[in-house]
Amino acid sequence: MKIILLGPPGSGKGTQAKRLEARHGLVQVSTGEILREAVASESLLGKTIKNTMAAGNLISDDLVLEVLERRLAEPDCKDGVVFDGFPRTIAQAEALNDIFSEAERAVDAVIMLEVDDVVLISRIEQRAKEAVDGKVRSDDRVEVLKNRLSAYYEWTAPIIPFYEARGLLWRVDGMREVHQVTDAIETIVSQI
Ligand code: AMP
Repeated sequence: MKIILLGPPGSGKGTQAKRLEARHGLVQVSTGEILREAVASESLLGKTIKNTMAAGNLISDDLVLEVLERRLAEPDCKDGVVFDGFPRTIAQAEALNDIFSEAERAVDAVIMLEVDDVVLISRIEQRAKEAVDGKVRSDDRVEVLKNRLSAYYEWTAPIIPFYEARGLLWRVDGMREVHQVTDAIETIVSQI
């Protein structure tokens, strides 16, 4: 099973991806997480993308696809994947279809977590205050939020009609309680 969680920054994709991972034995593939690790390890890739990530802008499709393909080639991805933060552009969505062109279906469902901007901003402000291991995620500073949201609307939102046209899009109200969002996702998964 391959599921994509789509939604603006702060919509709860990471939380719900972890729950899908635990309940269905899927592997969470978060390109944001992989890229953050590259920055932390100060690899060549990390140094190349550090400033772009810190500013809340998207990393180029070429670089993202390179790390994604490497991750998908690992054996744990064979039994199913939940994509969190990928694809973020139409080009990435098309590339994903190419990667799985041999499979019966490239993707089983695209679940869109819908959250109003006002709610997103307050969630991101909250997350910016919460330190993880003593460190605040540098791309969660409130002033970066505008960039992340505008990148979402400019590049990622066009993916919605892309998948809708293919009959794969499911919408979930992401402003409900976390467990209610999980229940709505479970109902979708039981139908695919
Ligand atoms: P996320 O943790 O998914 O919010 O991603 C954090 C940051 O990583 C984003 O703001 C982008 O700079 C970068 N990033 C993550 N995934 C992608 C992607 N699929 N395409 C381009 N940039 C990405």
